[in-house]
Order: sequence, then C-alpha cells, then structure tokens
Amino acid sequence: QPSGRSNQIFVAQKGYDPELPPLPDNIEEEDEDSVKIISLFKSQEPLGATIKRDESTGAIVVARIMRGGAADRSGLIHEGDELREVNGVQMEDKTPEEIIPIMAQSQGEVTFKVIPVPGIKEELSANETMLFVRSLFDYNPEEDPAIPCRQAGLGFKRGDILQIVNQEDDTWWQACRHGDSNSRAGLIPSRQLQERWASIDRCVTGISFPAAGLRRSFRLGRRGGRSGNVESKRKSQEMGGATQTPTYLEVAPYCRDHKEGRRLVLLVGPSGVGLSELKRRLLLSDPDHYGVTVPHTTREKRKQEKDGVEYHFVSRQTFEMDIVNHKFLEYGEHRGNYYGTSLESVHKVIGEDKVCLLDVQPNTVQRLHTTEFKPCVVFVKPPLIQELRFSRRKATLISTQDMTKLTKTFSEEDFEDMISSAEAMDSQYGHLFEMVVVNGDFAMAFNKLRAELEKLETEAPQWIPVEWTSHTKQNTESVC
Ligand code: 5GP
Repeated sequence: QPSGRSNQIFVAQKGYDPELPPLPDNIEEEDEDSVKIISLFKSQEPLGATIKRDESTGAIVVARIMRGGAADRSGLIHEGDELREVNGVQMEDKTPEEIIPIMAQSQGEVTFKVIPVPGIKEELSANETMLFVRSLFDYNPEEDPAIPCRQAGLGFKRGDILQIVNQEDDTWWQACRHGDSNSRAGLIPSRQLQERWASIDRCVTGISFPAAGLRRSFRLGRRGGRSGNVESKRKSQEMGGATQTPTYLEVAPYCRDHKEGRRLVLLVGPSGVGLSELKRRLLLSDPDHYGVTVPHTTREKRKQEKDGVEYHFVSRQTFEMDIVNHKFLEYGEHRGNYYGTSLESVHKVIGEDKVCLLDVQPNTVQRLHTTEFKPCVVFVKPPLIQELRFSRRKATLISTQDMTKLTKTFSEEDFEDMISSAEAMDSQYGHLFEMVVVNGDFAMAFNKLRAELEKLETEAPQWIPVEWTSHTKQNTESVC
C-alpha cells in the first residue's frame, strides 16, 4: 500500500510478508526533484532489478525490472528511477558493482531513496503474458559477454518451454522457465538478437548451425572438425531447404481429445544411427500401443509373405497412378521395383488408436507437420566419434546406396559421414525436432526414447506449435 506524500517526498511502503515494517521517520525534505522513499520488506530473494550508471548524468538508475520479481510485485520501483540511497548509504559515488552486494546483503526492511522517472504511476505488474515458446538452442548467460547483467540472465536448454513475459526491449526479453518454482523472470536474448548473432556466425564461418552453440564455440576458439564443417555445408545444400535460424518456436498447451488420433511419432536421423532398430524394439515392447505402416511395392511376393502384412503388392501401373495422385509420403526404386509409404497406411495405424511410428527422411517431415498428425519428431543423433567407434565396433551397416543391399562393418568414414550428416540435419530441420535422443549405448537410447514417448501419453499438457491449435481454439474448448 503506497502511503503518504509530503511536499516533494513521496513515501511508499510495501511488504511481502504478512507484517509490514514501520515507515522510516527520519525523512528529510529535499528541495530538488521529487524524492520517493520506498520501504520494502526483503527476504533472501533478490530485488529483481538491474541498475546501471546513466552515461549522461552519472546517476545510478534502475535499468530493468524483472517481471515477477520483488521490485515488480511491489509496483513501486520503475525503470529509469534514479537510485539515491539504500538503507541510508549514498549511491552517488558508488559503481553498480559496489551497489549489488549492498543490495544482496540487505534483508528485512530495506529503504530506498529514489528520484522517480517522470510520468510513471504506481501499478502492479500487468497481467501475465501468455506467450510460450520452445527454445531451439542452449543458452548460458554465464558464457555470454553481451548480456547486460549476467546475474539477471536465465539459462536454458534446447527444448525447454519458456514463458515470455516481457518483450518491451528489442534485444533482451524476459522469460520464466515453465515448471520452475521461481516466478521471477530472467533475461534471454530476443529472437531478433539471436538471429543477428546467428547471421554473424554464418558470415564468419560460412555454415549454419544452432546459433548459440556456434557463437559460444566460436568465441571459445574451438575449431570445427576438418570434414565436419565443410561436409555439413555440402550436405545441407544437398538437402535443398532454406537455412533456418533456430531461435524460439511459439507453442501452445495441448491436451488430446479422446476422439482425436494419437500423435504421430517420426524418427529422423542419419543413415546407420539405428532408427530401424529403435522402431523395431519399440514395436516389440508394446505392440498394442505402437504400430507401423505397411508399405507398397511392385516386386514379386515371396513365398512366406502375405499381401497386406509385409507389403501391399501392387502392379507398376497402379503404383505409378498412385504417385501421380500424391498417395505416397515417399517412395523410391530399388532393383527395378518401386517401394513407398502411403498416407493411407499412416491413417490406418492411427485409426487403430495406436501410436504410428515412422522413420523418414527429414524432408518428408514437413509434409506430415500438420494439425492433423501433430507429429512428435524425434531426432536420433550419433554420439561423439569416440563413443561411436566403441559402440559400433561389432555392429554392421546395411547399405542400399548402390542399389544392392550390402552389409559391412562401419568404417571411420561412415562415422564421420554420420556425424556430419546429423549436423546438417540439425542445422536445417532442428526447428522441427521435439525430442533429441543420442544413440551411443543402444539400451540407454531405447530406454530414454520409450520413457519420453510415454510422457507424450501421460503428461498434460503437451506443447505443440501454436498454429496446430488455432483451429481448436476458435471452435472448441478442451478441459485439461
Ligand atoms: P525387400 O524387397 O528386401 O523387402 O526390401 C528392399 C528395400 O526396400 C529395403 O532396403 C527396404 O528398406 C526398402 N523399402 C521397404 N519399404 C520401403 C518404403 O516404404 N519406402 C522406401 N523408399 N523403401 C522401402
């Protein structure tokens, strides 16, 4: 409750605990600007504001109020307020670095003497912004020399759900991590800033990678691997899509209506990383819950095969008609025969109320990235090369590149190819990936994948791209 005004001295008092401390009674009148005395009852929680020295006046001013922090909740301290005293200690001759510990150490009743920025009314923070994003890169404020106040930064990992609570500053947004008990916001780079950094990285290195990672590694002077970077660029160009800068993806909470099909699960990763084996093991682990599509082929049916089980066996003419009619999500030719996965086969599995598992090329993901399928895209990536060598030392690679099915052991070049191809996929399609599973040790990767996919069924809400929910929002309401 803001309290009295006395000439130019405005005294305000606010408490966070049930008991409010008494207002200071030794308030002196000041004949210059309006002075506001603010008395806050401070716990161990930081004030939630950043300060800086105003370059033109030399005064210490409040640079930023962190949404949801103590200062914000008080509604009494504002950006631009000039800080004169803290608990009677003059701030004038102090640097921001000297002031921060004084603030941090003070507990209980803390009195601030400030010259308020003109034209600001006392008000509690506005309603929370309901803007949620999935972060598409890792961010560590401790390693970021550009952040205006490191202590006010919010670190996050790729995949974390962030609630953006303030976008007033073009370069530094304020956000809370969804699920954190701490409701005080922290600073994160804005989309614009992150994109700018990424484009600088691209100019410097000539390649595109998840922006923050590269920015940091570039600063730290880590050398990109020999073939790694060059290969990545080549592979990325081969894949033919536009370069994306992974920053933040706007998401919305989603709870599946029982009438809706289960979300499609798309497994994506470089050749040899183990997609087929992961898919096979998932299916075996719970065949009532998971399902796979039955592909079409023009090859002859083998003795032990049944139509509609291993494949739908169709004539070349039928297959070609189906190609023309866009019935296939993807298709290819192998030893003179067509093979392809139809959209209808995906519908069939979903219609059986199963989770449809599909391993696809990343460029197929975009076709399935729709409101209807709401796919959860799992990127299966290889581990570091040392672990690849160790984990694949007895494994074999099935290669069909030269149109003959070859089984051979992995070579050093296969490992390098797998890693660079994964980097290229991540760089180009990373914004579509909802989960990342590193397949080094197979048992660990499988357990992680299964646990994460179980969460899709049990955890509510799930976070999906906002455009998949807009239709639902307009027409129906869902109860979570
Ligand atoms: P097979 O004739 O021995 O059953 O399979 C030959 C090849 O066809 C295998 O390498 C298999 O991976 C590939 N194949 C099976 N189904 C599909 C499919 O739906 N699409 C594509 N592009 N290839 C497939």
